[in-house]
Amino acid sequence: MKRSVIILCLVALACFAFTGSGIRNYQCKKCGTLVWQDHTPSYSGCPAGGSHSWVNLGEVGDRNYQCRKCGTLVRSKQTPSYSGCPAGNSHSWVSLGNVGNNAYQCKKCGTLVYSERTPSYSGCPAGSSHSWKKL
Ligand SMILES: [Zn+2]
Ligand SMILES: [Zn+2]
Ligand SMILES: [Zn+2]
Repeated sequence: MKRSVIILCLVALACFAFTGSGIRNYQCKKCGTLVWQDHTPSYSGCPAGGSHSWVNLGEVGDRNYQCRKCGTLVRSKQTPSYSGCPAGNSHSWVSLGNVGNNAYQCKKCGTLVYSERTPSYSGCPAGSSHSWKKL
């Protein structure tokens, strides 16, 4: 009986730690700025005019996702939220693979991504497929 109470407490603590450390991707759908933090960024001073219009794209994780419409690159746990693409309507996310220590740049769209291995070629914002070069 006592042991199960202790286990329950541990589970509750683990859940609390997990939800408590949730760093999220926030992007302004007006200016395209991407911020990683655990709370909604300040609304004042959007370079596109007036106040920022933040969209919560979801929890930061170890996979690279890029929108083929606006070119935004995010590190996310799962497919980011589709709403609020600065290029209009909804994002069109493509998974580029796991985050790693190797820098790759696409010579067509200029995207710089840190990847475990050569990122996926599909979904280059500059058209058809990326042309990755390891830096
Ligand atoms: Zn903004
Ligand atoms: Zn987009
Ligand atoms: Zn590209």
